[in-house]
Amino acid sequence: MHDFIPDNPYILLTPGPLSTSKGVRNALLRDWCTWDADYNIDIVQNIRRRLVALATNRTSEYTAVLMQGSGSFSVEATLGSVVPKNGKVLIVTNGAYGKRMVQMADALQLDYVEYALPEIAAPKPDEIALLLDRNPGITHVAMVHCETTTGMLNPLAGITRIVKERNRVFILDAMSSFGGIPIDAGVLDIDFLISSSNKCIQGVPGFAFVIAKQDELQKSAGNARSLCLDLYGQWREMNASGKWRYTSPTHVVRAFYQALDELEAEGGISARHARYRENQRLLVEGMADLGFLALLAPDLQSPIITSFLYPYPDFDFRAFYQQVKAEGFVLYPGKISEADTFRVGNIGEVYPDDVRRLLGVIRRIGTASEVKIDA
Ligand SMILES: *Cc1c(COP(=O)(O)O)cnc(C)c1O
Repeated sequence: MHDFIPDNPYILLTPGPLSTSKGVRNALLRDWCTWDADYNIDIVQNIRRRLVALATNRTSEYTAVLMQGSGSFSVEATLGSVVPKNGKVLIVTNGAYGKRMVQMADALQLDYVEYALPEIAAPKPDEIALLLDRNPGITHVAMVHCETTTGMLNPLAGITRIVKERNRVFILDAMSSFGGIPIDAGVLDIDFLISSSNKCIQGVPGFAFVIAKQDELQKSAGNARSLCLDLYGQWREMNASGKWRYTSPTHVVRAFYQALDELEAEGGISARHARYRENQRLLVEGMADLGFLALLAPDLQSPIITSFLYPYPDFDFRAFYQQVKAEGFVLYPGKISEADTFRVGNIGEVYPDDVRRLLGVIRRIGTASEVKIDA
């Protein structure tokens, strides 16, 4: 079977879709009928149980809902389903994904307050406390955990404490961190945690999932502003029958199931976290030696993806990108407005030896070509 799969021509050092294992890609190679026993209707319930167990020990308080579409669809499903008609959401923004939640709130016509920060600043728990105290009408707080725009890891525990002390519902976009960074949703009292199939669980794109506190989810019955993106509606159906309301991404689900097995085989989230951290440490140290400085201070940096400043103002990233790609690595452009940057992801089927090879490639390119690197 493996013979059918051509090796990838390059490794994706991107924030997702990312490089997957042969086992995960192999799972895509046959067709499945959703209601046939071979597909195994229990696969959905098995995945849901395992996702909850990855998020918390308090498995009876939480549930998981799978939803078709990319990660943003599930963020929109959550905002559009769980914020009541007379609710108001505080949205923390320090990058593109926080801003996307603001766009969603606009599209859904939700009442919201934005706590807007520069892209290289971390949200401050004290300021969130002040905003909540001044705005008693705020019912929900939504924040991104790892802001993939820069790679910044927002301070989760400090903020959930403030939010929970004030009895607000907490929604976390943990898209790029869940599975790669330990998060205990129960201990942090997170109400809705959202992630997707193609990030740190290392599956392929096609669906996302929401790990939800059951009693909070139950409150959202009949509240959704959309038929398809009704989180409660999807949960009801899935809970009862293991079925998705509309066509499910069967191949993607099988691949995700395989990816969960591989996460377990690796030693779970803490082992994967250690690998990503080692990837990131090697990368930042090696890049600094080559004249590429990280945008963020180490205490703000996640192990997920790293932004690097251009080494000099007229650095030709496109040429650099093409040369690195020809040697087997795909980098990622920058996404911030405050500085010229590019990004290198550490997640997916990527190991410290891959990072060492990448550094060797950049060292050769930097000394042998027109992409000059100020060392
Ligand atoms: C990847 C990602 C998303 C979802 O993006 P999609 O393109 O819709 O999959 C949302 N938030 C964060 C922080 C992400 O990294």
